[in-house]
Amino acid sequence: MPSKTKALSTFTEALAAASERLGYSDSIHKLLTLSAREIKVAIPIVRDNGELAVFSGYRVQHHNARGPYKGGLRYHPEVNLGEVRDLASLMTLKTALMDIPLGGAKGGIDCDPHSLTSRELEMLTRKFVKRMHRHIGPEMDIMAPDIGTDASIMGWIHSEYSAIYGHSPAVVTGKPINLGGSQGREKATGYGVSIVVDAVARTRGGPLSGASAVIQGFGNVGMHAAFCLRDLGVKVIAVSDSRTAVYGKDGLDLDGLVKHKQERGTLEDVDGHQNISHEELLALECDYLIPAALGGAITRKNVDTLNCRHLVEAANAPVTPEAEEILLKRNVEIVPDILANAGGVVVSYFEWVQNLQRRAWPLFKVDKELNRILHNAAHDVMSRSHDEGITLRAAAYEIASMRVKDALDATGF
Ligand code: NAD
Repeated sequence: MPSKTKALSTFTEALAAASERLGYSDSIHKLLTLSAREIKVAIPIVRDNGELAVFSGYRVQHHNARGPYKGGLRYHPEVNLGEVRDLASLMTLKTALMDIPLGGAKGGIDCDPHSLTSRELEMLTRKFVKRMHRHIGPEMDIMAPDIGTDASIMGWIHSEYSAIYGHSPAVVTGKPINLGGSQGREKATGYGVSIVVDAVARTRGGPLSGASAVIQGFGNVGMHAAFCLRDLGVKVIAVSDSRTAVYGKDGLDLDGLVKHKQERGTLEDVDGHQNISHEELLALECDYLIPAALGGAITRKNVDTLNCRHLVEAANAPVTPEAEEILLKRNVEIVPDILANAGGVVVSYFEWVQNLQRRAWPLFKVDKELNRILHNAAHDVMSRSHDEGITLRAAAYEIASMRVKDALDATGF
């Protein structure tokens, strides 16, 4: 079963390949991969039934040469130091590729948030901040939501940190709007996927209007991507959730699907739509296949069934290296996660800026700036890919690695 929290082997391999092509020494490659600081804490809480439970909390701060550490906080039973370390370095490269003044970090607690009550979750989060507060802060390390965490958890982090240091909304992003959250943050990753697809289509894929898209996953990223692509004239012909997939050859009624899912909690038996299996969804002929659910979703086992012209990685690491090799041989263009799903971190950056400035941007400004940054990044990646004759992933990793190395050079190590 593919896992949302699978180790990012694609990331490690892509970074090693970038270092080699750029002619970096082993020491520079080591500097790009090693974390600056890794913190592990024990977090005991008394559960509602009176029993003591102890969790492990992690924060890995990878690089801050380009700006304060920035990255999500994940609550998941399988969280471990190795995974958090990989994700922290991916954040360093993602912020560098977006050319925003932030570094990379990641954190997590090895808990199952669905088995904890709201009071237990709040206590766990506040205790984590009590143990971690000396290492985080608006100018040091800014956390954000990730798998298993949400706006209310970010609100508790803000509140606990502010109790020690005074009102500090910029210590965390992804907050509720009334606590200093940004307009446009919720849709940012899915919207960003559509902006990147648009940029790729303009340069290499032909007109977007009338193109077809299939989206695996209909959660935050997949759903917003579906609506934003529809707004660009794309025909979204299939989407899925963990239980089933829905297909409509002339395009789905997305509003109807959302309403049905909200009312019944499932995508099964939606009027006028056909349910198909997860495997059938992946095999549909389409211009854009967009995995937006799990890491490791496209593997050597199912890759031969794919029938798409472009594959857009909305999820992190949805394609294994073996599957990627096969797709590239078949001339399927892969738009890498580090570019395709960076919209969320860019709007997180806007939230941090707004908090530091004590101002709130209107939605049109957030959207306009997001478009500018993602179009620039997509343009940089496509130009390098074209000029050097390398894949979009290789180009993205090279640009990001060079930017981090330049900053390290400038700081004198
Ligand atoms: P989410 O939990 O809101 O949605 C995930 C969706 O995938 C749900 O609809 C779920 O039912 C579906 N799903 C689960 N298993 C499935 C399966 N086997 N087949 C088909 N669908 C399945 O999560 P999200 O926030 O939308 O994130 C999706 C992916 O994007 C994750 O890999 C996440 O790490 C990545 N990502 C998210 C963000 C963000 O801002 N939310 C940013 C960058 C990357």
